[in-house]
Amino acid sequence: MDLAVTSLRAARTRADLRLAPGERPLAGGTWLFSEPQPGVTGLVDLMSLGWEPVARTAAGLRVAATCTVEQLASHAPDPAWNAWPTVAACVDALLMSFKVQAQATVGGNVALALPAGAMTSLLAGLDAVAVVWTPDGGERREAVADLVVGPGRTTLAPGEVLRAFDVPTHALEARAAVRQIALTAVGRSSSLVVARRDADGTVTLTVTAATPRPVQHRFASPPTSAQVDGVLTGLEWYDDLHGAPDWRRAVTTLLAHEVLAEVAA
Ligand SMILES: Cc1cc2nc3c(=O)[nH]c(=O)nc-3n(C[C@H](O)[C@H](O)[C@H](O)COP(=O)(O)OP(=O)(O)OC[C@H]3O[C@@H](n4cnc5c(N)ncnc54)[C@H](O)[C@@H]3O)c2cc1C
Repeated sequence: MDLAVTSLRAARTRADLRLAPGERPLAGGTWLFSEPQPGVTGLVDLMSLGWEPVARTAAGLRVAATCTVEQLASHAPDPAWNAWPTVAACVDALLMSFKVQAQATVGGNVALALPAGAMTSLLAGLDAVAVVWTPDGGERREAVADLVVGPGRTTLAPGEVLRAFDVPTHALEARAAVRQIALTAVGRSSSLVVARRDADGTVTLTVTAATPRPVQHRFASPPTSAQVDGVLTGLEWYDDLHGAPDWRRAVTTLLAHEVLAEVAA
């Protein structure tokens, strides 16, 4: 779709990321160009910054915000990263055509903050921390599970730009399991549940798509069935055309028990 913008700037340096009123960051553009954007008068292209899509670090893995879904999916993992199949499972959950996967970015998916944002599911499930560039030239860090606060809502303040996501080694090396369900075979996710069991025995359950924002709970050891039900009781369940709240609660409970049993085995 053509947008009624009056400027398009290609960012080359951090200074180019100072956004004027009405300017928005442009990443893959798969959402920005998919519907009218009232109030958006200019776009600043992030892809021209040339950030390395995926890089190993001393603490794990850094995924650039501009890394495309396709680039992440094709990264060759370290053999010790037992949790890596979670990447393919979450990429598949996006149900994009190969053309969209080649354009859509990880950062764009998180910034969009749709409940069915499977890159948010992935990064939250792996305890990733978002690196956010602030307009004053500084930087702040926040867990992805906390950065997304509701449908289409994040903690990003005006002018803040997602730079990268740091995924810690302990999560990459953990045993992990994923389940996703949608109302139709190729439908948008209604529930996506990730369980992880770290080397220290901690078990983390992350629920997305079924709830308005990521919900995460940690257990010191594999939880009992009653503990799992206790955690899920009282959650706020999302209501949209991809699933009614009571159905989402029922299927998420089933999926949560499945993934937790898998990582406990
Ligand atoms: C066929 C199809 C299927 C889709 N399925 C899904 C789905 O299942 N789940 C889902 O969540 N989405 C889905 N989408 C929507 C969208 O394509 C994805 O969310 C995609 O990951 C968005 O990334 P992008 O790089 O294209 O973002 P863009 O369209 O470029 O930007 C999206 C928003 O994020 C902002 N933004 C982008 N990068 C940054 C950054 N680094 N820092 C701050 N703000 C930023 C932009 O300003 C804009 O507001 C689908 C789209 C299509 C066309």
